[in-house]
Amino acid sequence: MERRSLHIALCAVFLLIACSLQLPAAGQNPEFDLVIRNGHVIDPKNGVNAVMDVAVSGAKIARVAAGIDPALAKRVADATGLYVVPGLIDIHAHVFYGTDKDSYLSNGDSAVPPDNHSFRSGQTTLVDVGGAGWRDFPRFKEQVIDRARTRVLSFLNIVGSGMKGGPIEQNLADMDARLTAMRIRQHPGVIVGIKVAHYNGPEWDPITRAVAAGRETNVPVMVDFGGHTPPLSLEDLLLKHLRPGDILTHTYAQVAGRIPIVDEKGQVRPYVLEARKRGIIFDAGHGGGSFLFSQAVPAMKLGFTPDVISTDLHTGSMNTGMKDILNTMSKFLNMGMPLHDVIKANSSKAAEVIKRSDLGHLSAGAEADIAVLNLRRGKFGFIDTAGGKLAGDQKLECELTVKGGQVVWDLNGMSRPLWTENRKP
Ligand SMILES: [Zn+2]
Repeated sequence: MERRSLHIALCAVFLLIACSLQLPAAGQNPEFDLVIRNGHVIDPKNGVNAVMDVAVSGAKIARVAAGIDPALAKRVADATGLYVVPGLIDIHAHVFYGTDKDSYLSNGDSAVPPDNHSFRSGQTTLVDVGGAGWRDFPRFKEQVIDRARTRVLSFLNIVGSGMKGGPIEQNLADMDARLTAMRIRQHPGVIVGIKVAHYNGPEWDPITRAVAAGRETNVPVMVDFGGHTPPLSLEDLLLKHLRPGDILTHTYAQVAGRIPIVDEKGQVRPYVLEARKRGIIFDAGHGGGSFLFSQAVPAMKLGFTPDVISTDLHTGSMNTGMKDILNTMSKFLNMGMPLHDVIKANSSKAAEVIKRSDLGHLSAGAEADIAVLNLRRGKFGFIDTAGGKLAGDQKLECELTVKGGQVVWDLNGMSRPLWTENRKP
């Protein structure tokens, strides 16, 4: 081959490789580290619900717009046919894992390591609710929060020793509003609420003390209600004890000792509707025993959708009907909740509930936490905590997760070049 045509051939090969990798032209300084192109962006906080490109620079969202020039990016991911949404927030999980014996969800082996579950489901923020109390929060922080790549936040248990199960959670003497508030003030933005759960005595004290600490520190209280002997009134909880912004979790549960929200005639109880009007937050909180289609289907038909959709992730829920956040969100899709609202429940609304307005949206300048989701169509089945199945035809799957600008999950390599063109070993 003559020198000139060899040169042309080499140029052509180089051009081909450069195009297929979608690299910026030689000498051009890429403006963005990553551009996710042509995806359907759902960013409820900013009112975006259209095909757009999302550009990331460093750890931040740089721009969301149509037609961003891919030549301006170091790396391009083509999200055609997929949904691009804010990194999902799960406001009810149990990630204070550890090896203490008989410690349940507080440094025990019923809790799970956050990174093992979060990114593969599009989650960038997990909120541990009640694993730690004011006594063992420093250990939780050192052992889990500071080491995880997932953003881990906490609702402090009103019990100082946390959610260790058994008599420890029944000890009224270890429920101290003042010390709980002190610990919250030490970690603003990381401890974002207070949890009440599992107390089975006849007193309201765990609730009133949690609310007192919440009032002092301006954080919400989440209540896992039920199991009291004699039973306490759900109506009083929702209308008298809790403040607007406080949260009832396990909304669609029907368990011994808690009045279900849907009555025997299939109607949502009037005081539950009134509670929603006064600003009580209803969280799905699926878990291993707290989500029944016999409650959720009639409630959804009547328009009683959850404000937030959470997993109640732990070893007792992850391999049963709950599975993960996307399976849980898919249940609500198949019960008729629009995709936009399902995404909102796990992004901007979840962020609002935990008062972290910096999270849950794709505004320019915000932390680049992004999930790219595939809404699969087909024949699927979803199981509730009583073992009953709901047939469905849509299911969410996570293709790509970006946390602080870094790709932390890439199911099918959408952000990667072909191995034949990969210049990095
Ligand atoms: Zn829980």
